[in-house]
Amino acid sequence: HLAHAQRRRVAKNIPADAVRIDANENPLGPCSGACASISSLIPEGGRYDYDLTLKLVSTFSDMEGLKPEYVMPYAGSSEPLHYTVLAFTSKDKPYVTGDPGYEAGMYAAKLSGAKILQVPLTKDYAHDVKAMVAADPNAGVLYICNPNNPTGTITSHDDIAYAVANKPKGSVILIDEAYIHFSDATPSLDFVKADKDVIVLRTFSKLYGMAGVRCGLAIGRPDLLAKLQFYGMNSLPIMAVAAATTSLQDKDLIAQRKKINADIRQNTFEWLTANNYKFTPSQSNCFMLDTGRQGKEVLAAMQQKNVYIGRVWPSWPTYVRITVGTHTDMDKFRTAYKEVMASSTA
Ligand code: PLP
Repeated sequence: HLAHAQRRRVAKNIPADAVRIDANENPLGPCSGACASISSLIPEGGRYDYDLTLKLVSTFSDMEGLKPEYVMPYAGSSEPLHYTVLAFTSKDKPYVTGDPGYEAGMYAAKLSGAKILQVPLTKDYAHDVKAMVAADPNAGVLYICNPNNPTGTITSHDDIAYAVANKPKGSVILIDEAYIHFSDATPSLDFVKADKDVIVLRTFSKLYGMAGVRCGLAIGRPDLLAKLQFYGMNSLPIMAVAAATTSLQDKDLIAQRKKINADIRQNTFEWLTANNYKFTPSQSNCFMLDTGRQGKEVLAAMQQKNVYIGRVWPSWPTYVRITVGTHTDMDKFRTAYKEVMASSTA
């Protein structure tokens, strides 16, 4: 996964003045309290300060009514995503995921030698939980991303409950809630509290705007989390954990940022609808847009106009993923997209 990410970074070489709506980042960055925490800790950078990490764990577990041993912090959610797939899939234990879906778990499944079973989303763009639980009786991990990346669409709590109740014996349901704060989706922490075979992932990279600062959480039964430790344990960056704690303590932050994102997304959707463009009904900070032609060509044509949009999924070749940026970003996106669609070459 890391090699993949590095390749992408090298290949993109994005100009400084480009519109960057390609990576589901938050243009607002860390909140002001988080920035203050980071700055104030720079002189302490010579220390391993485990207390700051424990403070993050206790802050999150108190807020969510979890026992602290059910919460394991990481430098982002990519590591626990990767480790969960490595720990619970193998040559005999397939990896089941939605399609189109976030690909990172598939890279880990390739390493573990697991068969990868991609199950198309339903016509409402939810995970097809019935098909996922039936995909293979020996499945090791069923990955549900809620809201889903790249579509931004929701899988209902009832559907997730169905997957938890009917999953293959011995499998783990991995519920990736990277984008949950942007949406009205019901979180899945109740399954963790009920000691089910469920691991929930959270990250500070999206609503909290800390993709470059790096902090995330795996939440699950301690015996499940213990299996991830085998693949890597590390001290966390003290600025990241402190900024994450400060972000959690800002009581208005989720509502404020959710509204900012929803307003800009709604504005964009109204324009797309008025222009007869088709897109997925996202509740997140990204959506899939049907270009009606080869998405890769549209992506390249948009880059020519200095607007960097997200990638294409092989199963949906005419769609491109768009991240909801600032109002200015989306204005520039609209202008460029209209020009690209009007030209016959892309
Ligand atoms: N999960 C999903 C669904 C994502 O989209 C991403 C990043 O884009 C991640 C996990 C990993 O993010 P991070 O490692 O920054 O938490």
